[in-house]
Amino acid sequence: MAGILFIISAPSGSGKSTLVNQLRSLTSDLEFSISYTTRAPRGSEQDGREYHFTSREKFQQMAAANEFLEWAEVFGNYYGTACHSLDDAEARGKDLLLDIDVQGAAQVRKAKPDAVSIFVMPPNPDILATRLRNRSRAEGSLSEEIIQRRLAQARKEIGNYEKYKYILVNDVLDRAVEELAAIVAAERTAHAGQAAENTSGRITEYASSEASRAAEVASRCLQLNATERLRPVLLSFGL
Ligand code: 5GP
Repeated sequence: MAGILFIISAPSGSGKSTLVNQLRSLTSDLEFSISYTTRAPRGSEQDGREYHFTSREKFQQMAAANEFLEWAEVFGNYYGTACHSLDDAEARGKDLLLDIDVQGAAQVRKAKPDAVSIFVMPPNPDILATRLRNRSRAEGSLSEEIIQRRLAQARKEIGNYEKYKYILVNDVLDRAVEELAAIVAAERTAHAGQAAENTSGRITEYASSEASRAAEVASRCLQLNATERLRPVLLSFGL
């Protein structure tokens, strides 16, 4: 594709939606793929804005017709990224962000090896449990059984972190937003540099101190460079 394909995954309750919303308000030319789902809308969610809410029957028809780049069952509901999301972004030469779970991310990586993957970690199980309880309470459906199931699922998902290029720990929101925006900026610079190198043999130079700062922040989030920061988080989840 002409643009960059970003994948972001995180266990439920990691604060990913807030992060993604802030990123979208800070970053131009980044399209957000609206997934199809069979789950019911929550709160103020609107069909066609957060998701395309659809019946299981329609979803299965789309899957059978190979209309999904990837799809997965998450907490008993189907979620999928339509191929047309990618085709539309490609036609417009835009970067595209997919907010998908670890199963979907694995499928996309296979189909699109150049995709840039980012995993968002909650800082520890206690904070995750508090966020999950607060969210359930706000939705008027606090069930300790569901919270425990989501915590167990989170642990499983976090076990997949090594498959992602970048890792963020969402402990301080502003910092996580800065890191996410830096990753997007650094990948764009690298992508543009590659394109320039392909046409003129020129080597990438950072055009501004802002770009070099983004490269530095993003580099700290590379999974390979984040070991020290991740160790206590992984330990807290028993990993
Ligand atoms: P929620 O129901 O809380 O909005 O999302 C539940 C989970 O489904 C999240 O981890 C979210 O990333 C994931 N998800 C949302 N859309 C898709 C999709 O199109 N494909 C896959 N595989 N997962 C998705």
